[in-house]
Amino acid sequence: MSVTIDKNLCKGCALCVTACSKNVFEIGTEVNQKGFSVSVAARAGDCVQCGVCEKTCPDLAIRVE
Ligand code: SF4
Ligand code: SF4
Repeated sequence: MSVTIDKNLCKGCALCVTACSKNVFEIGTEVNQKGFSVSVAARAGDCVQCGVCEKTCPDLAIRVE
């Protein structure tokens, strides 16, 4: 099981940070090609595969497998 974020699709809106009930995501220090600070699955081990983040991300940047 893994939670991956396509850094170059992410716009740093933080909707995933708010949406995840397990507090998996945080906005990190890395800046992508578009100049956005991107989300990081900092606590991917806490993921329960609910799928909410994939549905929430407006840019389809998150994949849970
Ligand atoms: S919801 Fe999507 S675009 Fe917004 S911070 Fe999370 S991964 Fe990035
Ligand atoms: S699938 Fe659910 S628990 Fe896992 S990171 Fe996404 S919102 Fe959080």
